[in-house]
Amino acid sequence: MDYLQGLNPSQRAAVEQTDGPVMIVAGAGSGKTRVITYRVAHLIQKGIDPFNILVLTFTNKAAKEMRERIMKVVGNEAKNIWMGTFHSVFAKILRVEAHHIGYPANFTIYDTDDSKSLIRSILKEMQLDDKLYNANFVYNRISAAKNNLISAAEYQKNAQIQAEDQSGGRGNLGQIYQTYSQRCYKAGAMDFDDLLFKTNVLLNQHPEVLYKYQTKFKYLMVDEYQDTNFSQYLIVKRLAAINENICVVGDDAQSIYAFRGANIQNILNFEKDYPDLKVFKLEQNYRSTQNIVNAANSIISNNKNQLKKNVFSENETGDKIKVVRAFSDNEEGKMVAENILQDRSLQSLRFKDFAILYRTNAQSRAMEEALRKLNIPYKIYGGTSFYQRKEIKDLIAYFRLTFNPNDEEALKRVINYPRRGIGDTSVERIFIAADQHQKSIWEVITTPQQYLDGRTAAVVYPFGSLIQSFQVLAKNNSAYDTALHIAQHSGILKDLYEDKSVEGLNRYENIQELLNGIKEFSEREDIAEKGLDVFMQDIALLTNDDNDKNPNADTVSLMTIHSSKGLEFPQVFIVGLEENLFPSQLALNSRTELEEERRLFYVAITRAEKKLTLSYATSRYRWGTLNNCEPSRFIDEIDPRYLALDFSAPTASKSSGDDVFGKARTAWSQPQSQDIFTKPKPKVVPKTTSILPKAHQPSAGFAPSDTSNLQVGMEVEHERFGFGKVINLEGNKPDIKATIFFKELGQKQLLLKFAKLRIV
Ligand code: ATP
Ligand code: MG
Repeated sequence: MDYLQGLNPSQRAAVEQTDGPVMIVAGAGSGKTRVITYRVAHLIQKGIDPFNILVLTFTNKAAKEMRERIMKVVGNEAKNIWMGTFHSVFAKILRVEAHHIGYPANFTIYDTDDSKSLIRSILKEMQLDDKLYNANFVYNRISAAKNNLISAAEYQKNAQIQAEDQSGGRGNLGQIYQTYSQRCYKAGAMDFDDLLFKTNVLLNQHPEVLYKYQTKFKYLMVDEYQDTNFSQYLIVKRLAAINENICVVGDDAQSIYAFRGANIQNILNFEKDYPDLKVFKLEQNYRSTQNIVNAANSIISNNKNQLKKNVFSENETGDKIKVVRAFSDNEEGKMVAENILQDRSLQSLRFKDFAILYRTNAQSRAMEEALRKLNIPYKIYGGTSFYQRKEIKDLIAYFRLTFNPNDEEALKRVINYPRRGIGDTSVERIFIAADQHQKSIWEVITTPQQYLDGRTAAVVYPFGSLIQSFQVLAKNNSAYDTALHIAQHSGILKDLYEDKSVEGLNRYENIQELLNGIKEFSEREDIAEKGLDVFMQDIALLTNDDNDKNPNADTVSLMTIHSSKGLEFPQVFIVGLEENLFPSQLALNSRTELEEERRLFYVAITRAEKKLTLSYATSRYRWGTLNNCEPSRFIDEIDPRYLALDFSAPTASKSSGDDVFGKARTAWSQPQSQDIFTKPKPKVVPKTTSILPKAHQPSAGFAPSDTSNLQVGMEVEHERFGFGKVINLEGNKPDIKATIFFKELGQKQLLLKFAKLRIV
């Protein structure tokens, strides 16, 4: 039993308690996942057949890693363990058992896009207002019902639900749900939620099938139990009912999927369901330095709703958590990228020792760009690369069509997106006509009355004109103006704007991000050709080389905090710590939502082993205008004892530090009184008197002026650095360097031809 040596006494006790119900609710990094891993190895060592073990993990990646570790102890037998996510495991079971509930074994799994597209067709057929019955809204509503095991029939019978729908003016939701279910059934399709819902139906209606799996899975284990929904809870409960050899591990402080129906009650129910439950406490964090663990504890203590836990680390004290300020998201990316290169060489780290975590997918753009510039290899997890995202590809397809109207793939992608009545049949007719008349598709589209029947021609013609108008526009306008115009007039922006779900907002923000990138490209001073077509050449390269992924490659990991659950990295950067971004503006309406955001922050912090860096930008582009951002309240909530502010941003002058940031440094790193060390609560700095410096707001109507006659002694205003005085000029035209003393930032040297300056 050598392998049990790698466990502390509590962990070992939990591993050895193989029979009966077991629950471990413990803080991050305390070895919960390790306990499950060792437990499975231990069971197999004790002679349990791996075929009789079911382990439910949060991601398939987690399952894969766990299996590899178990293999090291028990060898190839580990291949036979049933291990995976709820969705993957029960899809596998449903393939075998689907006939019991009237589905073919080869049923289709509808992804979210398929589901929403089906909902849209139903809305159209039912002639319902698709603004009121926004497809995402309907999808989320159906999803929530399914995750709470409410069938379409029950939905329609439930007086409370009906009253709720009626009061929102959406009395037809029940009927839509009903039709949606029937259509999925007719199509032999299950959506994501069906994989759990139908499993429940199967286990509920077919006792013989339930019995089969109850006796098969003699031992059940669930990781990240805090994020299971009711549907998942019930599957586990049913399967464990005979043997009751069930072990769940989780951390209420890391529950971050309430918006998808995860229910913390599942932890509390567990105690009620199994009166002879054995509960194990794990308190020692093995992952992180003391500073990181203490900072995480101080953050989570701001949440009222939580189970009391004591988490400590006996690892080294470690570096303080670095807080870094940037002037923009691009600069933030640059600082992170430079930091990675620096630490990698100073501390002999690999790229895969670093992770960059963000709140929303859209933030990856600035990070990707900065990493690319420094040739740092990276991989985006839990999502497709920015330029691979559907909405980005859609908009880019319009750009492609604008510059090359013969691009068939781009045409197929957007001819009917956003929907404009050119259905599959019409598209087919266009292709046939082009073929018959030996004309290009573009020619058919621009002069459709010559080749198509009247009705089809009438719907196709405006699309051709639209693209032609984009072509004219692109000839005389900057990349940004062209791109924005296309985003607006193609209807993409409007379509995404109307989708108020979290995913919808993300997509909308992604487009905004793309436009921001194009705006910055338009404003670059180092290139002559700045048309959208030039920008596109770069994009084409980016989209091409992202396919071949090597899982063991030495790459920096980029991911949303949601997808970082359970993972760990020696160095972690949490970026975009700004009010309205993190915490998200969507989460500021109630304490419950804010507490979930705080748990998300707790998850993020606790991914770091040795070093943690938090960053924020004082300005961020939104819709082509620069907005000032305030640092996140979450930074203020960390006990200042564990923080080190670092404002030596590349654009901030180092020599100015004491004057400008002295106040902040004092407030953060040296408590005003001894009290702070003895107080159990971290010092919370009120929002209104935030001590973090703010970005310069350019004067109204700020426009750079001609600086060819700039003289020493003149006063100037810089777009970002604010007001200052020229103290030296050197070099020859066009490479004159100006040394300017900025009031807020101190001394900086700027290359005059690039500097955005105004003489005041
Ligand atoms: P999370 O809540 O983030 O999912 P967790 O509780 O599942 O965390 P693990 O991932 O199992 O924690 O463990 C965190 C790290 O600590 C891992 O690298 C693990 O190998 C290590 N670890 C856990 N227990 C021990 C131990 N007894 N001795 C040495 N290392 C340990
Ligand atoms: Mg874990």
